[in-house]
Amino acid sequence: MSGFLIYPLPNEISAGLKRTMRDQFGNEPKLEQAQSRRSICRRCLRRFNPGERRLLFKYRPFQREGVFAEAGPIYIHESDCRPAAEILTGYPSEFRELPLLLRAYTQDDGQVDSKLIKDGDAETVIDAFFANPEVDYIHLRDGESGCYYARIERADEIRSV
Ligand SMILES: [Zn+2]
Repeated sequence: MSGFLIYPLPNEISAGLKRTMRDQFGNEPKLEQAQSRRSICRRCLRRFNPGERRLLFKYRPFQREGVFAEAGPIYIHESDCRPAAEILTGYPSEFRELPLLLRAYTQDDGQVDSKLIKDGDAETVIDAFFANPEVDYIHLRDGESGCYYARIERADEIRSV
């Protein structure tokens, strides 16, 4: 078993968005079609297939407001997709060929470090970040746009979702 847990976008966020057709900031989500397998659905944490319909909306992946607590555009499937589990215990193999980065944060949402994943070997970067006691959690983000994909925590810090 790995020493970390990956948290997809909570169901309450995706379900709430589809119910109200408004994001946390009052924007109406945009309906689009995926053109490639380049991006990941934040809810089911699977890569989009070309032609799949998805909703684009704004999301702030932090629990509090703060100087590093940026909000940005994310996508989810328009259909009611589900992740393999509400907490993933391993890094998905189908992510390994995508250009992704990992960004480490303190408990107060301060940025500690940011590294591109080389050759799909996310575990090496995650283990190195979590070896630093200053690091509380990590974001998986797009390596080119910086867009948020998922939150990663140490396996010994299971939180309720
Ligand atoms: Zn999905």
